[in-house]
Amino acid sequence: MPTVQDLARLLEAAAPLAYQESYDNAGLQCGDPQAEITGVLITLDCTPAVVAEALRRGCNVVVAHHPVIFRPLKRLIGANEVEQTIIAALKNDVAIYAAHTNLDNVRGGVNDKLAEKLGLTKTRVLAPQSGTLARLITYVPNRPEDQQADLADRVLAALYAAGAGQVGQYADCSFRTAGTGTFTPGVGTQPAIGTVNQPEIVPEVRLEVLLPLHRQAAVLRALRAAHPYEEVAYELIKLENVHTEVGAGLVGELPTALAPAAFRQLLKQQLLVPVVRHTAFEQDIKTVAICGGAGAFLIGAARAAGADAYVTGDVKYHEFFGAEGQLMLCDVGHFESEQFTSEVFQDLLTAGFGRTFAVLISETPTNPVQYDC
Ligand SMILES: [Zn+2]
Repeated sequence: MPTVQDLARLLEAAAPLAYQESYDNAGLQCGDPQAEITGVLITLDCTPAVVAEALRRGCNVVVAHHPVIFRPLKRLIGANEVEQTIIAALKNDVAIYAAHTNLDNVRGGVNDKLAEKLGLTKTRVLAPQSGTLARLITYVPNRPEDQQADLADRVLAALYAAGAGQVGQYADCSFRTAGTGTFTPGVGTQPAIGTVNQPEIVPEVRLEVLLPLHRQAAVLRALRAAHPYEEVAYELIKLENVHTEVGAGLVGELPTALAPAAFRQLLKQQLLVPVVRHTAFEQDIKTVAICGGAGAFLIGAARAAGADAYVTGDVKYHEFFGAEGQLMLCDVGHFESEQFTSEVFQDLLTAGFGRTFAVLISETPTNPVQYDC
């Protein structure tokens, strides 16, 4: 039976913890990583009522979008809902796992699901992350007499399998140049080519691949395993490039342009929200930027991307001025913009574990915001 740790591995393959924002606390919140899963209950927020529902429905794991432990806890005495949730979970052997901004920042996550609900196509990341990519350079012998011509391909195949070589939607990307390597094996070495204390000149090929930094350890392990040299020469260079597939928000296109009022009607229908708080805007809406949750920090990016509308939650009074009349800024509510994240979790878990255990979406209402209209 799969364990809590297996579940963490599965979700982190889709939404690596390395992609969460610096203030976040995604990952396993409490519980035994080795515990076998009896069932999973999915929610946006984990509360004592959600833990009770999990027990009632035979689930010993709660998967949530928002981390229940967001700020460090100094004591666990049940003084507030966060402490009560953790205490109830620990007492009843329920594990709580959260995938938060890491799931916001990947394709196939929170924002792709929101884009799907609004019918957006041609989506791209609104604010791509930088500092998450590196370039690996290594040197492989290239001597025809050793029949090593395919050695470069074998090394590259190992690097690709470990997560290197992906550029946007293109896989197996590399660059190679032929050259000449020199070395003198020292005393105590067992060189694959050459003799101790004898200078060597070897035809080599220089291989270059991109990799996400969080795959660094796995890629270097694969390099050492596949490379014939005793001492593998390589360079790992951190890049300033943005990762076009990782980052906050998305921008995409509606199938047909809509009048502003019709677009707001679409939001109400698709996001099950009775009220949309929005800025005045007269032009038709075709290009739409989105960010599930509190996305006011991307208003400028949405304007710069040429969006006619920006849909997010938790916009404050002064932040509405940031629309500058250039787009219709729409606040649909934090919960409403993220509610379909449960479907993302359910799809990932069902695809990964099949019908090994039940994967249920919580029926406990957790949105603290009520509407009077
Ligand atoms: Zn949120």
